[in-house]
Amino acid sequence: MNIIIFGPQGSGKGTQAQLLSETFGMHHISSGDILRDGATLGDKKCQKLKKLLDAGELVPDKEIISIIKEHIKEDDNIFDGFPRTLEQAHELDDIIEIDLVIELNIPDEEVIKRMKLRKRDDDKEELIKKRLEHYHDETEPLIEYYRPRGIVHTINANRPIQEIFNDLVKIVEKNK
Ligand code: AMP
Repeated sequence: MNIIIFGPQGSGKGTQAQLLSETFGMHHISSGDILRDGATLGDKKCQKLKKLLDAGELVPDKEIISIIKEHIKEDDNIFDGFPRTLEQAHELDDIIEIDLVIELNIPDEEVIKRMKLRKRDDDKEELIKKRLEHYHDETEPLIEYYRPRGIVHTINANRPIQEIFNDLVKIVEKNK
C-alpha cells in the first residue's frame, strides 16, 4: 500500500507519517528531511537547494523528482511532503499506484501559532506565511486531483496527536 499525507507545515504530518511507518512497517519518505539531511551531510545538490528551502520557496520539480525517485521502494511507501505540485503528482503516478491520500486539515492561524513555538531557524513568521501560501496555491489543489479516485480522507488535525493517529490507523486498517 502506498500513502500520501498532505497538510501544511505544523499540521503534524511528519509525526503522523513516522508513527504510521513504525506501526505498519512502511517506508517513510520525507522530502524535507531528505533535503535537510543531504545538505548537512555535504551533498552538493541538496546544499544548493537548501537556499530555496531557507527562503520558503519550493525547490524545482525536476530536482526534487530525481532525488525522491532514489528513495521510492516497490511498495509500502508513505509520502510526506511529496508530491507538492501537479507535475510531481503526475511523475509519481508513472512510478507507483497511490492507494490512500490523507489530508490533515488545520486553520492557518493554528499553524502560525504552532510554528512560532518551534525553534527551527526556517520558522520565521514571513517564511511560515510564504510556505502556507505555497501549500494553498500549489499543493492543496492536488487533493482534488486524487479525489475522483475515491481514496481521499480528510482528518481534523487540530486535535491531540494520539487522537489523530487513532483515526489514521482505522483508515489504513480498513484499506489494507
Ligand atoms: P517540509 O519539511 O516538507 O515542510 O519541506 C521543507 C522545505 O523543503 C519546503 O518548504 C520546500 O522548500 C522544500 N521541499 C520539500 N519537499 C518539496 C517538494 N516536494 N517540492 C518542492 N519543494 C519541496
